[in-house]
Amino acid sequence: MSYISNNRNPGGYEPNGQHIHKNITTKNGEDRLPCTFYNKIGSCRHGEKCSRKHIRPTSSNTILLPNLYQNPKLNKNKDEELNAKQLQQYFDQFYKDIFVKFATLGAVTDIVVCENENNHLNGNVYVKFENKKSALYATHILNQEWFDARPVHCELSPVNSFEEANCRAYEVSECTRGDHCNFMHVHKPTQQLVDSLMSSQRKSILLHKLAELKEEESRKAETEKSEDKNENSNQSSGGSGVTTSMVEQLFA
Ligand SMILES: [Zn+2]
Ligand SMILES: [Zn+2]
Repeated sequence: MSYISNNRNPGGYEPNGQHIHKNITTKNGEDRLPCTFYNKIGSCRHGEKCSRKHIRPTSSNTILLPNLYQNPKLNKNKDEELNAKQLQQYFDQFYKDIFVKFATLGAVTDIVVCENENNHLNGNVYVKFENKKSALYATHILNQEWFDARPVHCELSPVNSFEEANCRAYEVSECTRGDHCNFMHVHKPTQQLVDSLMSSQRKSILLHKLAELKEEESRKAETEKSEDKNENSNQSSGGSGVTTSMVEQLFA
């Protein structure tokens, strides 16, 4: 992330979800302190009207797609209510669709989907990429796309640790704060699905690397061939092919 805060509790952040308002002016004359909710959770209930400063990162491994998941549990107009099993199936399908899409933009390390009932967290999708370059690239691509007949909005997010952003109570049982809770209520996909998506991603990355190596080798061979021609020599340079065969062994 592009900003650094040495203060462990810069925004008067309290675990019960409230800001403590103090009249503090920082040394450099900045009268607004960073919003710790925005820093930790990537979204704060005050939005743009927040009295604290939302410092948007210029580089990060994580991107946020606010309100992307249309939670059927919250869609009151639906005629037929889904039972728990159907809800999980619906969610798994959504998770699979977005994973496959994001994996085309970079190596995905984590995807978190919120099912909070409040507007600033409802359906938020956070995607953590292996590197910052992929995250930035993903924001450029995704902001031109549509999902579920709605234009996608996507931004770099300061969220670094999902562990810290998670609502512990919701994770272990029920959260009594309900729709007032400002921490992430995460809808978890079926573990088997995650394992299979991750393994497909690993394989696809290796195959991509293998294709790149093969291309590089054939380029090298072409150059050597033309050099040999120029020198009018019959000597073969050899040596190439070792790396490809090493990668190919990974699939043996
Ligand atoms: Zn805020
Ligand atoms: Zn909660």
